[in-house]
Amino acid sequence: MAKPPGTMKKRRPGPRIPDSRQIAYARAIGLLFCLGGFAAIGLGWAGAARRDCVDCQVPFLLSGGAAGLGMIVFGGALLVMAQLRSDSRRIGARLDDVAAALVRSSGRDDAPGLPGDVIAGGSSYHRPDCRLLVGKTELEAISLDQARTRGLSPCRVCSPPDGPATDGQLDATPVTAAEPAEGSAG
Ligand SMILES: [Zn+2]
Repeated sequence: MAKPPGTMKKRRPGPRIPDSRQIAYARAIGLLFCLGGFAAIGLGWAGAARRDCVDCQVPFLLSGGAAGLGMIVFGGALLVMAQLRSDSRRIGARLDDVAAALVRSSGRDDAPGLPGDVIAGGSSYHRPDCRLLVGKTELEAISLDQARTRGLSPCRVCSPPDGPATDGQLDATPVTAAEPAEGSAG
């Protein structure tokens, strides 16, 4: 019975409405407002039609039209906002997927030197997700050691892991054929 005084905080125990539910509510309310707006315009029109003098019709048309237009605009705004929210939610979910995939694929980079670590190209090697490899077929997955043994250089676009044991080959070997003109024609 001894209630500790002062700890009775007023906390709203209201259950959290999930986002999708909120969007559905907003859509329903927006639709209701739109329908109500049309109804108001219709009622104003009908009320005006029952009057004979033009001067008596004007208030009906004005009030019905103004109220109806206002409700339609408000309902339309609600609809648009609900649509935007659902769109952004969908995009957010998509981004989560992409981020998860990125984390999964980047986890492979932790163990360089395994077979299939890099993809062999013509004169260089790439990460498996390099954009230079898009559309290419028959890609050969090799290890870093193999790539180095073949004299492949790391791609400059995707910058694959260079590996620890580059013995003195820091200077990029010239790939372009700069032939020393032997025996120049005389
Ligand atoms: Zn590359």
